[in-house]
This record gives sequence, structure tokens and C-alpha cells, in this order.
Amino acid sequence: METERRCPVCGRGVLRDLGTEDPGLMQVPESRPLESYTCGHEVAGPPLASTSRSDDLEVERREAPDTVEPA
Ligand SMILES: [Zn+2]
Repeated sequence: METERRCPVCGRGVLRDLGTEDPGLMQVPESRPLESYTCGHEVAGPPLASTSRSDDLEVERREAPDTVEPA
């Protein structure tokens, strides 16, 4: 099973564990989480907050669509 995500930039690196290192940018509320890859690339993930777009759009999904947590 491959739970690792490839780096979208170079396609060689894999997604590293978030929040293991870099105590500076562990949790960034109301912002896109930076996904660090083993290759050294950092790609911003999908925006957590999807507001200020449509008034009729209600937030139905509370859970993150892209949850990668190494159990
Ligand atoms: Zn890369």
C-alpha cells in the first residue's frame, strides 16, 4: 500500500510527516498547510477555509478532504 504522496513538482520526493520538524510552521490556522516533501519541495495544500466565495454555499463538510495522517 502506498500512502505516500509523490511530490507534484518533481514527482520523485514523497510527502513527509507534517509537524515533526520545523517547530516554526507546525500549525498555521486559516492558512494553507505547507506540505514538505523529502525532495525538499514545499507545496501549499488545499485551502481549509472556503468562505467569502458564495453566500449560498454552506460548509457541510467539516472534515478535511485531504487528511494524511500516518497512524
Ligand atoms: Zn520535489
